[in-house]
Amino acid sequence: MEGSAIRLHGLRKEFGDTTAVAGVDLEISDGEFFSMLGPSGSGKTTVLRMIAGFESPTSGTIRLAGQEVTGLAPFERDVHTVFQDYALFPHMTVEQNVAYGLKVRKVPKAERLQRAREALADVRLEGFGKRRPGQLSGGQRQRVALARALVGRPRLLLLDEPLGALDLKLREQMQVELKALQREVGITFVFVTHDQDEALTMSDRIAVFNQGRIEQVGTPAEIYERPATAFVASFVGTSNLLRGEAAEQVTGTAGTYSIRPEKIRVLKESAIADEPEHSTATGTVAEVVYVGDVTRFLVDLDAGGRLTALQQNLETSSEDVAAYRGARVRLQWHRRHAVQVPADR
Ligand code: ATP
Repeated sequence: MEGSAIRLHGLRKEFGDTTAVAGVDLEISDGEFFSMLGPSGSGKTTVLRMIAGFESPTSGTIRLAGQEVTGLAPFERDVHTVFQDYALFPHMTVEQNVAYGLKVRKVPKAERLQRAREALADVRLEGFGKRRPGQLSGGQRQRVALARALVGRPRLLLLDEPLGALDLKLREQMQVELKALQREVGITFVFVTHDQDEALTMSDRIAVFNQGRIEQVGTPAEIYERPATAFVASFVGTSNLLRGEAAEQVTGTAGTYSIRPEKIRVLKESAIADEPEHSTATGTVAEVVYVGDVTRFLVDLDAGGRLTALQQNLETSSEDVAAYRGARVRLQWHRRHAVQVPADR
């Protein structure tokens, strides 16, 4: 059993009459890549800032590696925070930036330089030590910020939307690198993001935040395949809920169901649907969007409501796709892919 890196108990934070964090209990294990995911304003940054010690909780406790740190200053905690804006010193070289924290801690110069070079090698920036931050690309600056965090060998690294300023391609590349780096150094990473793909790509586990609370904690597959609430189902992945009368007509049982678009097959209306393990619903294609590798169908069900279905374009071309608009279709999915979630609060 791995040790506990972070344990939050009854954590609350109020700013005047705004409740930013409304009671969070969470345990993160040593060596985990853990993401806090949620829309803007859901409280994830405030939780991160309380773990770092930049904000103090209104109530509740924070333990790091078993030790209570709730009242301690940031520098008394064995953590390092990487911010979205990198916060590098522009007048220092890359090497000096990376070694700065060691200098503050009075590590001798030779060791400082040695460790700064190792940290730069970890983030694949050998040979960039003498440059200044202004002479680097956005992705390289982000790597310097990471090297600066790693050089002090903290037990815990907190990352606040660190890839937010990068363009999509670079962002995706950095996601893969960051995950590989984390595996290599074995440090616990707590990563704040509002980007569901990013969280799904990198994390061992994810906490989904909504209005200052955690709605679900789980592995990417658990969060995606078995969303615990309607909010999680629609925030992570495309919102595809079958509810009310329509749900009852189609599935035979009342309730709210989340069905992932890629689990739904689009068939001809006349297709025979007699497999007991499948649910099926007829409808009219309201919109069809060709997205290169896939086609997205928005289908208005005869039973009421609208579902999105995604089909891979194995043989379909953009011309074929256009012909679908207004067409009558039958949607079909395996019953186990309709996940019941509690109705919205
Ligand atoms: P984002 O992704 O936009 O940063 P977030 O999920 O990280 O959002 P928080 O920054 O934690 O959300 O903010 C949660 C709530 O607390 C918001 O309503 C925000 O306006 C409020 N809040 C955060 N910091 C302060 C502050 N210093 N003073 C007053 N209100 C604050």
